[in-house]
Amino acid sequence: MRYTPYVDPGAPSLWLDESPASQLPALQPGAHAVDAVVIGLGITGATAALELAEAGLSVLALDAHGLGWGASARSGGFLLVEHAIEYPARRARFGRERMQTVIEMARSSHELIEQRFARAAEHKRCGSLILPMAEDESEQRTLAEAASLLQEDGVPCSQGAGHEGLDGFAPGLSIPEDGEVHPGRLLAAVGAEAGRAGAKLRQGLVADVDTKQRVVTTADATISYGIAIVAVNAWTRRLLPHVDIRPQRAQMLATRPLGPMRKLGPVCYGCWGYDYFRQRDDGRMLIGGRRHLHRESESTDASVPTAAVQDDLEAYLARHLRAFGPFEIEARWSGIMGFSPDELPFWEALSDGAGTASTHVLGGMTGHGMGLGAVCGQTIARSCHRELSAVEQRRTQLLHADRLRS
Ligand SMILES: Cc1cc2nc3c(=O)[nH]c(=O)nc-3n(C[C@H](O)[C@H](O)[C@H](O)COP(=O)(O)OP(=O)(O)OC[C@H]3O[C@@H](n4cnc5c(N)ncnc54)[C@H](O)[C@@H]3O)c2cc1C
Repeated sequence: MRYTPYVDPGAPSLWLDESPASQLPALQPGAHAVDAVVIGLGITGATAALELAEAGLSVLALDAHGLGWGASARSGGFLLVEHAIEYPARRARFGRERMQTVIEMARSSHELIEQRFARAAEHKRCGSLILPMAEDESEQRTLAEAASLLQEDGVPCSQGAGHEGLDGFAPGLSIPEDGEVHPGRLLAAVGAEAGRAGAKLRQGLVADVDTKQRVVTTADATISYGIAIVAVNAWTRRLLPHVDIRPQRAQMLATRPLGPMRKLGPVCYGCWGYDYFRQRDDGRMLIGGRRHLHRESESTDASVPTAAVQDDLEAYLARHLRAFGPFEIEARWSGIMGFSPDELPFWEALSDGAGTASTHVLGGMTGHGMGLGAVCGQTIARSCHRELSAVEQRRTQLLHADRLRS
């Protein structure tokens, strides 16, 4: 057995502190045998576990820590139809047809969350506001180009938008269909639903996946499986070293409530999408980003907030959101994202000793897994138990790891 030490995910986020149901009972030692094992319970794995359990399979779903303790419940909780400022570059690179599939996937993911978990996850279609920096003409031009391409491709959006109290930005782009969730409560709700459907969700650190024998190993248990879904995203290479997913840290902070009311309606992005902020209904302002100023130190899977990035986040509040202050910082946290080589998620099916594709690796969610992870997990889980529809087949064609080899 190969021992793969796991990097501690760090202190919980504000979201995790508010979601005690994200904690899991420990896996019993000994031998287990199931139809399906899911490894990693972020948004991707939790949705896959739900799909498989609802299809009637016996499911054991494991996470090293708890539901959402990786990136998912440390995220901003923005649900976006697409990363708008990057749309011109992504459309040029992948083509219009494939970007239509990405948009369809993001919309389906958002609808799945809205239809099944809206209340528990505090979901809102609050819209997003993408703001270029006032001094960056190149960013302003790119956003204008993004707006016309998105409109051409069926994403309603309007240019020239701004918001009272925000400083240092040029007029931005408003996308009304985008939304927000409480990611900790979302994960707890998906897990609870999977549990009701019969999945056993357990805390357990997987040390090895023997894809040929179809056996998963922890320190004191073995699990024989029919199919496995490996959804450990940033930590994939620790289990399957050949899979090219690279860890990238991202950091956030939350202020104390800034008053009795939420004054900032949409979720916001600035500076080429690197910076993001939102206000909760309880008045707390949450902000993340500034990673692009610290590229070397943030290329890591050590989940600890650093003074350098946190100071920059505070400076950003003072510079661009001053009118909402004064600010008192209540929580700071970091999370680890998994970047794919081309920044779209991918899926790879690994064969067992009999040549059957029984282990499915799904990851590389990059910076937008809250918007895409649910549909990715659901679709790949579906492909394990039934024929896919034409729309679902387009998704698996897009996700297939072959695209990275061509
Ligand atoms: C600060 C921050 C802000 C972000 N903001 C947004 C946002 O607003 N919108 C958006 O769309 N995306 C955002 N993202 C990105 C998004 O969070 C991720 O893309 C998404 O959560 C990935 O989901 P996942 O389920 O694939 O992986 P994860 O949520 O990382 O889940 C992987 C799970 O695998 C578990 N695991 C790892 N190794 C093992 C092992 N050996 N055994 C058992 N379990 C294991 C981990 O504990 C973890 O829970 C943000 C990320 C960060 C860090």
